[in-house]
Amino acid sequence: MRLVVISDIHANLEAFRAILTRIDEIKPDRILCLGDIVGYGPNPNECVEIVKKRVDVSLSGNHEYGVLGRTDLRTFSENARIACEWTREVLSEENFAYMRELPVSCVDEGMFLVHSTPLNPERWNYVFTARDASLQFSGFGESICLLGHSHVPACFEEGGGICTLSESNPLYLKEGRKYIINIGSVGQPRDYDPRASFGVIDTEEKKVQLIRISYEIEVVQRKIINRGLPLFLAERLKIGA
Ligand code: ZN
Repeated sequence: MRLVVISDIHANLEAFRAILTRIDEIKPDRILCLGDIVGYGPNPNECVEIVKKRVDVSLSGNHEYGVLGRTDLRTFSENARIACEWTREVLSEENFAYMRELPVSCVDEGMFLVHSTPLNPERWNYVFTARDASLQFSGFGESICLLGHSHVPACFEEGGGICTLSESNPLYLKEGRKYIINIGSVGQPRDYDPRASFGVIDTEEKKVQLIRISYEIEVVQRKIINRGLPLFLAERLKIGA
């Protein structure tokens, strides 16, 4: 079974379309989306509609919770809050209804899927370091947990450190070990590589591959500015941070 894993699209339609072109070539059996379809970016309705059509499993992220009023926007950064409030104004009733039904975690293909962390997912904590990850392995019984939220690709092995994920050297997971895997962000990468990021998992070969795709960042930047969203949200796309 070949699975495509995407996360943190953040209403970036150009990045999303660019990865879909590659996904069409990969022809995966299933597409899993780990949340934050909206927030920050200028095309929330378009991105939610594509997710509805194309994705097999879809989770809620903290930006969906912010837009729905389930998480207090005072806990967000100012730029995130402004973008969430703008998203609330423009989002269609059908897309609100879709977002309300999304779970925060699930088990699919024998893997645990969540936007933030396996333990207390609605606290929206982050997994950045091997220590952050070490606290989370007790939160799932499966051998693999896929998560997003930090926008930084990483793979953590239980009892070990961080393994590198890359396009040229796919990672082969060891039998009998537990892993927490973040495949990065489609629409707002923060690992100083501005290209859109997603992952491909081959469940038979136990292979995880990160894929990076260039897209027209300037088009998205112009839309962010034209919609009156914070300038910083346009600038950060160029540096991938
Ligand atoms: Zn996010």
